Amino acid sequence: MSLDMPAKGCRDTPVLKERGQREVFCGLTGIIWLHRKMQDAFFLVVGSRTCAHLLQSAAGVMIFAEPRFGTAILEEKDLAGLADANVELDREVARLLSRRPDIRQLFLVGSCPSEVIKLDLGRAAERLSGQHSPHVRVYSYSGSGIETTFTQGEDACLAAMVPALPATAARELLLVGALPDVVEDQALALLAALGVGPVRCLPARRAGDMPSVGANTVFALTQPFLSDTREALMRRGARALPAPFPFGEEGTTAWLQAIATEFGVSPEVFEAVTAAPRARARKSVAVHADTLAGKSVFFFPDSQMEIPLARFLTRECGMTAVEVGTPYLNRDVVGPDLDLLAEGPVISEGQDVDLQLDRVRSSRPDLTVCGLGLANPLESEGLTTKWAIELVFTPVHFYEQAGDLAGLFSRPLRRRALLSQEAAE
Ligand code: SF4
Repeated sequence: MSLDMPAKGCRDTPVLKERGQREVFCGLTGIIWLHRKMQDAFFLVVGSRTCAHLLQSAAGVMIFAEPRFGTAILEEKDLAGLADANVELDREVARLLSRRPDIRQLFLVGSCPSEVIKLDLGRAAERLSGQHSPHVRVYSYSGSGIETTFTQGEDACLAAMVPALPATAARELLLVGALPDVVEDQALALLAALGVGPVRCLPARRAGDMPSVGANTVFALTQPFLSDTREALMRRGARALPAPFPFGEEGTTAWLQAIATEFGVSPEVFEAVTAAPRARARKSVAVHADTLAGKSVFFFPDSQMEIPLARFLTRECGMTAVEVGTPYLNRDVVGPDLDLLAEGPVISEGQDVDLQLDRVRSSRPDLTVCGLGLANPLESEGLTTKWAIELVFTPVHFYEQAGDLAGLFSRPLRRRALLSQEAAE
């Protein structure tokens, strides 16, 4: 398979770097999808009532299941340094683990308050792992809003697990990223049909299935926001497979092709395995491309998925990208997507929200992809918006979800067209 490359891609496009006020959710948000993925894990946020409220409102109230996340609330006396927060944390953890023998992995998740009082959760995790091993392994990572955007929560979580993965000399493929089980199963089925294996996943659904890692591990990221995890795996000797991300028919095919090439899959087998799902994906995208073609899109920096998605929307749906903002730009990770994204859009990194709002108002794109906090004000100014956070809550990877991914962008445009029509009548 060869990709139709643009005359000039965006890999060398000068990047507009901004370091001003940002409008993003914090990394605690990742717990919402991580706790669904890891079925014997518990995420214990060490934070304030604000953190607890964020989690509860983002996740909804879980009535039927035992929740797999909670907040150890730092009270004022903790914040004032009057109490030993470590003693209280140990007590909370002991209480939780005795009540919940199903928990095999416990994540202590740092927040703004825990960082402000410099509570060392890394140390606490070591101490608690010592107390509760071998039944429970305790990790720590930061989900604080001080320096993160919301998808960094998953990156920090997975990166925290990498040093504890067992070593192996086996040649294995590792898929990295917390995909919904049904989507992960589709990828595993495609790879099995290609004859690629053994394939492991990080994170695994259960602690006992966690992958091993070593110099013969090759890994493919499934999400573009996993830079720290990538680095951590490379420090363990594993090798990254650079590829466009598996969004849309083209992205999925290119991602699979990178793996197929690495594992010596013949072009005939590749074609035989991918031909039917590719055709299905193209057909399902085409339904939405009618609405999207010729429209302009502007990305605020939010999910870190912006560059691969701009590639998908411009190449497979006929849209024009005006600006593609991303919180962080790591060319080692999104370089293959930048190569495919034709030059033209402003590529911006970081945020100075007022300046970016000025730019979106002057360009008045047909669709603006942004965080929840910006969407309503922009809608009231007549701009059509898409909430970036839906892109991580909705299954969007690989062939069978390509149409749903396009639909996430076409729906707001259709809704706006209907509203305008009604207003005119
Ligand atoms: S971690 Fe920080 S930004 Fe996130 S909810 Fe808690 S206080 Fe707010």
